[in-house]
Amino acid sequence: MSSRRKRRAIIIGGSMSGLFSAAFLRQIGWDVDVYERSGVELVGRGAGITTHPELLDALESCGAGTADLGIEVPKRFAIDRDGRVTGEKPLRQILTSWDRLQRLLRETIDEAHYHLGWAFERVEQNGSGVRVHFNKGRVEDADLLIGGDGIRSSVRGDVAPQIQPHYAGYYIWRGAPEEADLAPKTLKEIFPYFVFYLPPRQEIITYPIAGFNNDLRPGHRRYNFIWYRVADENQLREMNVDSRGVQHEHSVPPPLIRPDLIEGMYSDARDIMPEVMLDCVMTMKQPFITPIYDFTADRIVFGRVAMVGDAAANARPHMGFGVAKAGGDAKALARCLDAHDDIDAGLKAYNAERQPIGNVIVKHSRKLGTHMGVNLRTEEDRRMHDLLQTDEAMMDWIAVPNFLDAYDIPGRVPGRV
Ligand SMILES: Cc1cc2nc3c(=O)[nH]c(=O)nc-3n(C[C@H](O)[C@H](O)[C@H](O)COP(=O)(O)OP(=O)(O)OC[C@H]3O[C@@H](n4cnc5c(N)ncnc54)[C@H](O)[C@@H]3O)c2cc1C
Repeated sequence: MSSRRKRRAIIIGGSMSGLFSAAFLRQIGWDVDVYERSGVELVGRGAGITTHPELLDALESCGAGTADLGIEVPKRFAIDRDGRVTGEKPLRQILTSWDRLQRLLRETIDEAHYHLGWAFERVEQNGSGVRVHFNKGRVEDADLLIGGDGIRSSVRGDVAPQIQPHYAGYYIWRGAPEEADLAPKTLKEIFPYFVFYLPPRQEIITYPIAGFNNDLRPGHRRYNFIWYRVADENQLREMNVDSRGVQHEHSVPPPLIRPDLIEGMYSDARDIMPEVMLDCVMTMKQPFITPIYDFTADRIVFGRVAMVGDAAANARPHMGFGVAKAGGDAKALARCLDAHDDIDAGLKAYNAERQPIGNVIVKHSRKLGTHMGVNLRTEEDRRMHDLLQTDEAMMDWIAVPNFLDAYDIPGRVPGRV
């Protein structure tokens, strides 16, 4: 590196993939600046995050570390409508939270290079660099622009507007009730475990995570609750009308979700849930809706613009692998740039390595999504759907480590990003 001119990357998005990219690029001697649209520090987004060996590897190797990462569960099991255990699998897994990961990664970058309140607007390219335009008229020049700005990436929207996420035909009710609010029966029977409840065309998954400020003390933790349900495009559109009557394009911010939708969700929960799961639903403080989208792209590099994380390819969350993929993209990008004196050759190598992996991850998530019985187009979809109708199979496939080992991915080292 010492013989090279210092290189500079502008990174859009101050969340997982943006921060991973900054950390890995700094390791190879680049100057990096992260620009995040939000005017305030990112906290409280999403909730639970399943970890994988690849995520732990990325956190360790980028310098963020894995201190106080989360809660380890010893096993997973499924229950029926009466709360009886229908199947069980030993599987040690660390469950963390989006907030904990954000905090660990945020500490790897100093204030001077993390800029809140700046929204990317457009990029100009001249073949050997980028000129990036932000809101409020800010303009910055660099050798490389990295789009780490999520599934609705404005960077991707600028360089490849034809690439659009597709609605999967189902959505999630999510929430994280506090341990202190749950009934003793819920705490005893399900709280320490990764638990499945699988009524027809639905999927409910629960596991413990830290409380606010990464509080891991018993009595102060939370229980991550995810309830997948089917809704067609028209139903989704109707759900995307908020409590003031305003139509949203993709999803409604949690505080604006209509009370009638929440009441309907409670009512459906009363009809189908085992007592311990119903307890979780009724103690969630602010349930919110996440519609499920996915997409892949033919390429993830556009001249001197490289996409990472959800902006590059977005899988349905059945494997809980999104942050691991973000770390993997960022690490590979830095490795490829470091291995080539020529930036364009490095980007070409990055595209060749990570675009196919993104494809595989999205394809795998679609397989797992067949459980919901939506849009079963091929014979393979129907076979997969049939296979995933038992509790045993779902426990074998959903959010398990090392699922990528089943695919032939040249050069990939299992467990490493
Ligand atoms: C229900 C659900 C469950 C999930 N569970 C898991 C799990 O268990 N394990 C796991 O690993 N992953 C999980 N994921 C996926 C994970 O949350 C994502 O993969 C991860 O957050 C992607 O990180 P990212 O940085 O690429 O994008 P994001 O986290 O979306 O961040 C993008 C950032 O870019 C910023 N931004 C957007 N536009 C602009 C702009 N124009 N200018 C500047 N900044 C901008 C945004 O404000 C945001 O901060 C789950 C996702 C969902 C929906």
